[in-house]
Amino acid sequence: MPAAGRRSRSCGVTDHVLGIDYGGSSTKLLLAAAGVREAAPVAQTRVPTPRGAGALEELAAHVETFVAGRSVRGAAVTVAGIVDDRGVVVTSSNLPWLAGLAIGDVLRARLGFPVVPVHDGRAAARAEAVLGAGRGHEDTYVVALGTGVGSAHVVRGVVEPGAHNAAGEIGHISQDEHGRLCSCRQRGCLETFIGGAHLARRWREVVTAEGCASPDELAALTAQDLVAAARAGHPGAAAIVDEATAALARGLLGMLATVDPGRVVVGGGLGQAPDVILEPTVAQLRARATFHQIPPIVPATLGPWAGAWGAALTADELATAPLP
Ligand SMILES: [Zn+2]
Repeated sequence: MPAAGRRSRSCGVTDHVLGIDYGGSSTKLLLAAAGVREAAPVAQTRVPTPRGAGALEELAAHVETFVAGRSVRGAAVTVAGIVDDRGVVVTSSNLPWLAGLAIGDVLRARLGFPVVPVHDGRAAARAEAVLGAGRGHEDTYVVALGTGVGSAHVVRGVVEPGAHNAAGEIGHISQDEHGRLCSCRQRGCLETFIGGAHLARRWREVVTAEGCASPDELAALTAQDLVAAARAGHPGAAAIVDEATAALARGLLGMLATVDPGRVVVGGGLGQAPDVILEPTVAQLRARATFHQIPPIVPATLGPWAGAWGAALTADELATAPLP
């Protein structure tokens, strides 16, 4: 197989696969040569996320402009939410206008090549395991520290879904039954310690108590602001981060005891601050470990493009599957 990708039957024309990461605010389009083996895009771009009733028509128009007449054998599109066996979006919290739509079928009818939906978190985790920081390793556990906390165990390139398709909720293992209320209605989940939404709220409380920020400034604060303040030595920020990394260390230790992966990859927005989050977490994990096998615990490498790469991997399988 040539490094540039599989050639189509038409001599000299490279086949491509397309990954679409349909995010809440921006949508990423990524074109790769079919036969994806490394994270080397042919082209990539971001567009504002199409919204509302005409969203898929608008998305298809963006895709046509982006593809610019190149040969595309298949595409996959990430969806944050629940998609049923027929490819119909049941619910999506940040893309509610997709509910009830067979997103892949609609896009296929417009674009003329196969399009399938994929779960956004699992797509990103799989891409990190196969093309990113887990590349070359058969058994990788990926943790995504975003607004919430998700995870996936990827073995030989496949996400382990669990018997009920419900695996990967490391963020909702409770560490304190008297702790803060979580979105899942339990208390003290890992996500209430290190989920971006919780961290932003707690940082807002600290800044509010200091009394020197306007309401608009307070409303705009994010977990990344907390990370920056901790890095700058703010004691209130450092205390929140210490508590968060201790909780993540406990959570990872429990995961190591039950899953025993060969490698752990930590991604998501907070995963991109290894000096503030990952390194202290690993230090605390090592200090607490007793019988545990501790594999390499490394930062993710695909950054915000992990979801699009995961979609491209699924599109690649679609494109290279034997015809029925
Ligand atoms: Zn929870």
